[in-house]
Amino acid sequence: MLDALGREINYLRGSVTDRCNLRCCYCMPRGAVNWLPSNTLLTDEQILRICRLATGLGISRLKITGGEPLLRPGLPELIGRLKQLPGVEQVTLTTNGLLLQPQLEPLLKACLDAVNLSLDTLQPACFSRITGADGAKLLPLLSLLRDLTQHTPLKVKVNTVILGENQSELPQLADLARQLPTDVRFIERMPLGCHRSGNPGQTVPPTPRQLLAQLRQKWPDLHAVHEVRGNGPASYYASKTLQGRIGLIAAVSDSFCASCNRLRLTCTGQLKSCLCYDYGADLRPLLQPGVTDQQLEAALKAAIWYKPAAHCFADATGLVRQKFQTEIRCMNEIGG
Ligand code: SAM
Ligand code: SF4
Repeated sequence: MLDALGREINYLRGSVTDRCNLRCCYCMPRGAVNWLPSNTLLTDEQILRICRLATGLGISRLKITGGEPLLRPGLPELIGRLKQLPGVEQVTLTTNGLLLQPQLEPLLKACLDAVNLSLDTLQPACFSRITGADGAKLLPLLSLLRDLTQHTPLKVKVNTVILGENQSELPQLADLARQLPTDVRFIERMPLGCHRSGNPGQTVPPTPRQLLAQLRQKWPDLHAVHEVRGNGPASYYASKTLQGRIGLIAAVSDSFCASCNRLRLTCTGQLKSCLCYDYGADLRPLLQPGVTDQQLEAALKAAIWYKPAAHCFADATGLVRQKFQTEIRCMNEIGG
């Protein structure tokens, strides 16, 4: 379906939990977290119903996210059922990978198409500083990445958030695209929720453009390629010495809103048409008995039609923010 601005909306990122086993510094607060009550999370049946109606409106690609989606019991079964919905072309997963190995076989049986592995560093001490977890957890993740790319049919991408903390290793992270058949995508940190004002005192990291210039010192033939490699906003670059591509997601400095194709479903049933705003359709009342598919579908259509024109992450004037309320929830709660 097209929104009011003529953008084709065909991609839904669905969060299945707010829980997480890490505390990435750009995503969640450190320390004790008040998780959402379990009985407010959408059930598998509710997620399936929303996705079935969404596919009827042209959504063909689904991304499962969270929190850490692999913490949700029965995730492979849910993915298998989503894959079977008419109109679904692709179901992919974004994960920190810590719980992936034991669930890999059922996920492959469920015909999962691709995995995005979040990996912000190659150094255990830095892993610990960024995620708040034991740095010893990093090495198994790196060997899992090798296994996924070399011994499974899954398409694999590495997602790295550009931070002051990891900026000195960004070229080494990019080098994973030389060593392995994987794309490495660098994401600009978005000022969201509990991290709206950034992390004071931190070194200012490079913008994606500055990073590209830095990577060109290592790979001078790095050139833009116009290929469809994912569902979204990354710009991709190739070099003849790289197996995969380098992706840049300039979420703040280079708005890609004019071609945005996505919706987000939070784990409690809010349908968000832009990550930036606390704005969307609360589907929960429409999931109660007695509400028809037509009524639920009308809410989906309205959320698509009224998708905001642009985010306001870089809005220094505050003008856009006066008009709409900006998102105050943390990324794990919304579904990144
Ligand atoms: N736990 C899973 C993971 O880490 O992949 C899925 C959820 S996580 C919220 C999804 C993606 O959002 C990750 O790639 C993460 O790096 C990214 N992310 C979280 N907070 C962000 C922020 N403030 N700015 C940019 N990306 C962010
Ligand atoms: Fe957890 Fe993913 Fe957020 Fe890190 S980015 S805290 S792994 S939800």
